Amino acid sequence: MAEDGLIPENMRPTSSSNYVNPDAQVDEHGNRMKTMTDYEVLKEIGEGSFSVVYAARERAGQKREAAIKTCFKKQIIKLGKVASVFREKRVLQTLSEAESCSPFIVQLIATFQDENHLYFVLSYAKYGDLLQVQMKRPDRKFMKEEAKFYAAELWMALTHIHGHDFVHLDVKLENILVKSDGHTMLSDFGCVKDLNEKDEKLDPRIRHSAIMPGTAQYVSPEILQRDPVTPSCDIWAFGVVIYQLLTGKHCFHDESEYLIFKRIQKLLYKFPDEFPEDAKDLVEKILVLQPTERLGAVESGGGEAVAKHAFFEGIEWDKLHETQPPITL
Ligand code: ATP
Repeated sequence: MAEDGLIPENMRPTSSSNYVNPDAQVDEHGNRMKTMTDYEVLKEIGEGSFSVVYAARERAGQKREAAIKTCFKKQIIKLGKVASVFREKRVLQTLSEAESCSPFIVQLIATFQDENHLYFVLSYAKYGDLLQVQMKRPDRKFMKEEAKFYAAELWMALTHIHGHDFVHLDVKLENILVKSDGHTMLSDFGCVKDLNEKDEKLDPRIRHSAIMPGTAQYVSPEILQRDPVTPSCDIWAFGVVIYQLLTGKHCFHDESEYLIFKRIQKLLYKFPDEFPEDAKDLVEKILVLQPTERLGAVESGGGEAVAKHAFFEGIEWDKLHETQPPITL
C-alpha cells in the first residue's frame, strides 16, 4: 500500500500480534474468540478511512480464505464513527445469521478485537470490486447479458436487505465485490440505515454531501432534499448502477458535486444511442424523482415489478446463485 495511505505504518497490525485481551477470549456463549494468530495474512487488499483490509487464510480447520477488515479504534473515534461501526457490525451479524443470510451479501464470519483494533472477518472477494472488473472489459463497459446478470444479483441483495428493514445507502460498483466463482456480493454497510432504529440520526456524511467524496453520483434526490430515507434511496442508486454497467459512465456527471446534485434534482441525463431499449425503459422507470413512484418501491409494484421487467427476461431468479456467471475471470 502506498506510503501516503490513511493509516500510518506503525499503527498497522501484524498476524503475529501477541496482545491477548483477557476479556475477549470467550464470547457470550462461552466460545473461544478468534485472534489474528488464527489467520495467516496473505496480502493487503485495500484501505478505507479507518481500516485496512487483508486477504487471509484460516490456519486450522478448512483453511478458508477470508478478508479481514482491521479497524483502528483511535481513527474510528477521531472520525466520529463509533456508532456507525457498531451499527455496521450489528447489521452484518443479522444478515449473516443462517436464517437470514443471502449469497449476494458479504458474510460476517467473526469479529474480535485487541487493544488498538477491531477486526471484522468477512467472506472474501477474490476479484475485488465490480468497478475494477469493468475497467478490464472491452470499452470499459459490460455487454448487455453481463450487465443483466450483475444487476439481477444486486437486485437480489437489495430486496433481501430491504426485507430486513435496512437501507444500504452506499450502493455503487465499488461496493459490489466479485467472488472467486464470479458471483457478486454487496458489501460496505458503513452507511446503512436501520429503519427500526427510531431515534437514529442520519449519518452527517449523508446530510452534508459535500464531505461524501466518490458517491455523489448515486445520491437520490430525496436525500438531497433531506427527506426521509426509505428503501427507494437504494432503488435510485440501482438505476444509476444499471446505466453505469451498460455505458461505463455515470449518468449524473459534472465538474463538481454541486453541479452533479443539480443534475440529479433536475433529472438531467441522456442515454447514448446504443443503450438497449428495454434497459432504457427500466432506468427511466427507476430514475423518478418521487420515491414512491419508482419501479420497485412498495407503492410501485415492489421487488416483483423489477424482476418481471423485460430487461431481466431469461433470468432465473430462484437459481441465480447457481447460474454460470457470464464472465470468466
Ligand atoms: P471507507 O471506510 O472510507 O468508506 P471503504 O469502505 O472502501 O472506505 P473498506 O470497507 O475498509 O473501506 O474497504 C477497503 C477496501 O478493501 C475496498 O477497496 C474493498 O474493495 C476491499 N474489500 C473490502 N471488503 C472486502 C472483501 N470482503 N473481500 C475483498 N476485498 C474487500
